[in-house]
Amino acid sequence: MLEIENLHVRVAGKKILDGLNLTVEDGQVAAIMGPNGSGKSTLSYVVAGRADYEVEQGSIKLDGADILEMSPAERAARGLFLVFQYPLEIPGVATMTFLKAALNAQRKARGEAELPTLEFMKQVRAAAAKLNISQDMLKRPVNVGFSGGEKKRMEVLQMALLEPRFAILDEMDSGLDIDALKTCAEGVNALRGEGRSLLVITHYQRLLNFIPPDVVHVMSRGKIVRSGGPDLALALEATGYADYTEGAAA
Ligand code: ADP
Ligand code: MG
Ligand code: MG
Repeated sequence: MLEIENLHVRVAGKKILDGLNLTVEDGQVAAIMGPNGSGKSTLSYVVAGRADYEVEQGSIKLDGADILEMSPAERAARGLFLVFQYPLEIPGVATMTFLKAALNAQRKARGEAELPTLEFMKQVRAAAAKLNISQDMLKRPVNVGFSGGEKKRMEVLQMALLEPRFAILDEMDSGLDIDALKTCAEGVNALRGEGRSLLVITHYQRLLNFIPPDVVHVMSRGKIVRSGGPDLALALEATGYADYTEGAAA
């Protein structure tokens, strides 16, 4: 489903991704683990199409189509979704309004009609209830004054509504207490299945107890240096990243 080949990326003149190769299969939940600064967030931004990242070499294909030439909106219309490590605040825009606009933009890009307001409200209420998101929160401006846990639950709500084909979760566990983490993980796990792939990025193994991956990739200094089954995450938890960081023997 997602194929990244020999990706080289510079940010502000500095080489961050250095020949990264990664394939995520249809229906797969893949984890990327790695030390801080290894380029995990950079990878997620480049896949989502954020500006300011200079792709020097390589390709990223989603369902066989090269997405590097596409705008972030086109990528989203093809089913890409990124759960940010630091979700943005949008003062002045009610969350409910934002969700409706996001969903209808996606439907429009797919040539589908707008969802009738009542049907939309029904869908949002059902999805929000599962994530412990109150009606009051849906009326407030997007993420403004939300706690870390509330912001992440809102991201998962957006994901549940958009039903992406490929979602990247960048350090979803950062700033979450255990209850919020469980709630978010349940929301994510409900979306597992054929026709959808998830890339779960994390520094800590803990998140993977709640969202068990099919495969685990280790990233270091801008590339994937090791791949394996779920046991690889447990081994890393025991040994840390010492073998993969600066100064370690090749
Ligand atoms: P990770 O998510 O694995 O912690 P990042 O992708 O955030 O890693 O960062 C990788 C490296 O790129 C770090 O050394 C970071 O300082 C650097 N970097 C990221 N964004 C920028 C930027 N906008 N300008 C300069 N350096 C950056
Ligand atoms: Mg980091
Ligand atoms: Mg990061």
